[in-house]
Amino acid sequence: MGHASPLEIMDRALEKFGNDIAIAFSGAEDVALIEYAKLTSRPFRVFSLDTGRLNPETYQFFDTVEKHYGINIEYMLPDAVEVQALVRSKGLFSFYEDGHQECCRVRKVRPLRRALKGLRAWITGQRKDQSPGTRAEIPVVQVDPSFEGMDGGVGSLVKWNPVANVEGRDIWNFLQAMNVPVNSLHLQGYISIGCEPCTRPVLPGQHEREGRWWWEDAKAKECGLHKGNIRQEEVAQLNGNGNESAMDNDIFNSQNLVTLSRAGIENLAGLKNRREPWLVVLYAPWCRFCQAMEGSYVELAEKLAGSEVKVGKFRADGEQKAYAQQELQLGSFPTILLFPKHSASAVKYPSEKRDVDSLMAFVNALR
Ligand code: SF4
Repeated sequence: MGHASPLEIMDRALEKFGNDIAIAFSGAEDVALIEYAKLTSRPFRVFSLDTGRLNPETYQFFDTVEKHYGINIEYMLPDAVEVQALVRSKGLFSFYEDGHQECCRVRKVRPLRRALKGLRAWITGQRKDQSPGTRAEIPVVQVDPSFEGMDGGVGSLVKWNPVANVEGRDIWNFLQAMNVPVNSLHLQGYISIGCEPCTRPVLPGQHEREGRWWWEDAKAKECGLHKGNIRQEEVAQLNGNGNESAMDNDIFNSQNLVTLSRAGIENLAGLKNRREPWLVVLYAPWCRFCQAMEGSYVELAEKLAGSEVKVGKFRADGEQKAYAQQELQLGSFPTILLFPKHSASAVKYPSEKRDVDSLMAFVNALR
């Protein structure tokens, strides 16, 4: 069905699976799927994951869609005990500190798994143009690479992606032409829509996935619902759970970078009057955010080679972590510090933008 229209694909999916298939609706422009389903004149089911952290506009939109199509959305909620354990132990915003996977697992992936166990097939609004790293190869229909259907086991669930080959602007033209209601967040600049704390509007020219989990690496931006999109060899690397030898591999390796020992960084931090400014990253080699900024930090070190600014790294996990938290302002990895020339205290880089130009602007402002 690679060249079939979304309507043909939808019709075939509903015809083939009847009551054992459902549309996964996120509250964004995937409302187009519901419109296509209606156009087939076949009965269809729709489910949504209510994570408890959606924008009020999205809840209102769910209600609008139910009324517009005369349907009852089958909401899937997370397990209350699991959510309670997560927020009691780690707070309401742990995803900003150690990544979104844990919270997404509790609030999205497990409820989705439960929903899919009652089906033989599901329909998603994934498109190839949505994510540069993870969605470029999605087919129109596939055996679900990650989840199981009601019969259990590999191959028990089929995943239909009727708009895989459609571009974002064509979806919008379709919605407009068919007078389909849309989430009012789109009028505020949101393209991708998810949970309120993890979604933001994007600027003209920015890719829509930059509005999701923007503090994390672009290639890792799958919440687990479509994690089969990430190639297996990348999963171990992105999750920091590769084999032991990979975990032992150090990062930020460059002749332009000084590896500081505990004694070295204690000396540096203790100097009241440094002869040259130092930029130092506090890192953990297994941390995917550190891995994601490795290229830009090494390039920065190259650019600063020969200048008065020294560039260093200090591995601050394991037994060094408590010291780094107490004495070096370590919050999460990576933490970047500038030790200015004539000042005793270090300045922490406040931004999540870790490209070469942003880091260089920070250095130039304080050197
Ligand atoms: Fe949690 Fe954010 Fe994932 Fe929503 S998108 S489940 S708030 S980490």
